[in-house]
Amino acid sequence: MKEIVILGAGYAGLRALHVLQKSGADIHITLVDRNDYHYESTSLHEVAAGTQPDEKICYDIKDVVNPKKTTFIKDTVDKIDADQKEVYLENQTLKYDYLIVALGFQSESFGIPGVKENSLEMVDVKTADQVHKHIIEQMKQYKETKNEEYLRIVVCGAGFTGIELVGALVEGSKSFANIAGVKPEDIQIYCVEAVDKILPMFSDKLGQYCIKYLNKWDVKLLTGKPIKKVEPGAVIYQNSKDDENDLVALKAKTIVWTTGVSGSQVIGDSGFEERRGRVMVKPNLTDPNHDDVYLLGDVSAVMDPSSNRPYPTTAQIALKMGSYAGKDILDQIKGQPSKVFSFKSLGSVASIGNTHAFGLVGKTEVTAYPASFIKKAIMDRSLFETGGVKEVMSKGRFDFYH
Ligand code: NAD
Repeated sequence: MKEIVILGAGYAGLRALHVLQKSGADIHITLVDRNDYHYESTSLHEVAAGTQPDEKICYDIKDVVNPKKTTFIKDTVDKIDADQKEVYLENQTLKYDYLIVALGFQSESFGIPGVKENSLEMVDVKTADQVHKHIIEQMKQYKETKNEEYLRIVVCGAGFTGIELVGALVEGSKSFANIAGVKPEDIQIYCVEAVDKILPMFSDKLGQYCIKYLNKWDVKLLTGKPIKKVEPGAVIYQNSKDDENDLVALKAKTIVWTTGVSGSQVIGDSGFEERRGRVMVKPNLTDPNHDDVYLLGDVSAVMDPSSNRPYPTTAQIALKMGSYAGKDILDQIKGQPSKVFSFKSLGSVASIGNTHAFGLVGKTEVTAYPASFIKKAIMDRSLFETGGVKEVMSKGRFDFYH
């Protein structure tokens, strides 16, 4: 019997588990995660803004584990020794024949001073929940002090994560305002972005759609303003392109850092050849130096032949990688050759609040309600692919389930 260890119960890990569990192969699987629940990392911004409760984006890992085939261990991964085929957890050591590393992402500060100490990150359910609790606390402080900085929220970076967070914050501003005893329009939402043009992967038309709504909702989007430092209660950005000394301090009691992510720190700690926690994998998603180690999702870099750059890390590609790796391990066990992993993006849709969204589906640009509908369908599909019907019925995004 072959022992397969899966590290991480995110999109890629649970998808691989699903494929392996339903095979009739003579295998035993050990699934490890630091939590005993799976969470939809694409919905963290909603928890941070308080527009969805955390239980809505989580489900119990035991719901998807078949105890006849799989042992689930709740523990934290410290390090992998791929030469010895061992994984060191905080509380025990595991041995494997095949390893799937799907440990996800962490926030990337790019070495900018003060980020870790003075801003909030939003990388898992706990940190997203902390963002929400922090905002609520600042609203209460405003009521006491009438200091406007308590009403000001600065989102750092206008990538997909930053924009989706801003949209959710706009939606949440009514309830923030209630707590602070002000009007929703008194809640000041800023988004500070280094480059001039936001969301460069989209056409100008889609970018403008997004900007139109941000303007309508009075979000202060500052573009071409790279953040140089975060101080307690202030984001310091460079105001003019050519003058490094032209620095402006934007004071705010809530600062959320969403300027990009890197793969789990375990990758670097384990000595894999990596860049920002991502390993350039072989065409069958294995480590170049270890045929029995698959690296999936945010810890993996796969070249997109059409752009000659690695595919962006998304839930969509992570799910695909999970399915592929599960099947490839089964092929390896049978002594069959690997197929080459291929990926065709179905497109990407960003939500701005619960009812507005925009993006690309195939080659078609979508906006407004149809985009929002598609976004919800995408979310339910990923729930279905990792969880199943039960999870979609209880956590799905369409009202008709409930
Ligand atoms: P990102 O790298 O896509 O965006 C980060 C943004 O922060 C960029 O616009 C960058 O210019 C800006 N930035 C970086 N340093 C800065 C600085 N010092 N000052 C100001 N701005 C700065 O990161 P993300 O938004 O966290 O997304 C990570 C990945 O997850 C991406 O591949 C993204 O496509 C994916 N994602 C997809 C969805 C979706 O499909 N709906 C949602 C969220 C994330």
